Amino acid sequence: MLAALQNPSHEDVVVSQTDPESTAPKLAIPGLLKGQKALVTGANSGIGRGVALALGEAGADVVVNYVVDDDAAQAVVDQIEGFGVRALKIKADVSDETQVVAMFKQMIKVFGTVDILVANAGLQRDAAFKEMTLAEWNKVIGVNLTGQFLCAREAVREFSRRGVVPEVSCATGKIICMSSVHQEIPWGGHANYASSKGGIKQLMESLAQEVAPLKIRVNAIAPGAIRTPINISAWKTPDAYHSLMKLVPYGRIGEPEDIARAAVWLASDQSDYVVGTTLFVDGGMTLYPGFATGG
Ligand code: NAD
Repeated sequence: MLAALQNPSHEDVVVSQTDPESTAPKLAIPGLLKGQKALVTGANSGIGRGVALALGEAGADVVVNYVVDDDAAQAVVDQIEGFGVRALKIKADVSDETQVVAMFKQMIKVFGTVDILVANAGLQRDAAFKEMTLAEWNKVIGVNLTGQFLCAREAVREFSRRGVVPEVSCATGKIICMSSVHQEIPWGGHANYASSKGGIKQLMESLAQEVAPLKIRVNAIAPGAIRTPINISAWKTPDAYHSLMKLVPYGRIGEPEDIARAAVWLASDQSDYVVGTTLFVDGGMTLYPGFATGG
């Protein structure tokens, strides 16, 4: 596995123990992203943390965006620096335009540019539909969808200003939107979250279509059930885990490094002709497993 993921910083939750029977590849390809500057939002926890570490292990300099828990962000920075690349933590609420603009400005000042954006920050505020408050609706749409719009817009502005640097990458820039299987699968009790992810699908595809002529590649990853704090109730107890596995044909929960490997590939020139695609990394969750025995 990605070595650094063996030391999760979250106090209560062991989020990154790879299934011992997993046959997945163990390492990011060293040097694959050498010289590239990456920004990962929500990078001090869960999937964002795993992605930030993997990008660093693959040779990128990484900005670790966070909004709460400075210590956890610093721990990720320290681990990334252990790969011999640069890392910088920047506190910013991705739903706040002023803070997002300032974050990109600081990154460009320190690192010179932005080559890779992983718009990952997200949250849930679950409620039955008739109980859902406007504040719960606005919070989820604001962080999950508007946050991706604001970060992607700043990234596109910087990519356009700089243009292609062939020694660094054959693309002008890469944006990876962290979506969810719930861009496809309806989710009662989570209408705000599912709506935000459905919105990300159209945001990603519309943006990908618009900026592909500039050699900017925009894609998304749609994780299934990944072992992080956001969904701890779905996997913490054996009963919950057993119930969750009915939804996962591959028979195990996903780990942050499953998403991290996909993100490294999408950010690299290895995926250069991949434009406007959502890569489902879900152990088959979107295969309607209930129909495996005849429906
Ligand atoms: P997590 O709670 O561990 O991480 C979410 C991160 O986003 C945290 O660092 C949090 O502080 C940050 N964040 C929240 N609001 C923010 C804001 N306003 N500004 C900046 N950062 C903010 O959860 P995770 O599972 O790692 O989630 C990461 C992404 O993956 C989310 O977009 C989530 O919807 C998506 N996702 C997760 C799963 C899963 O099963 N874990 C499945 C599908 C999609």
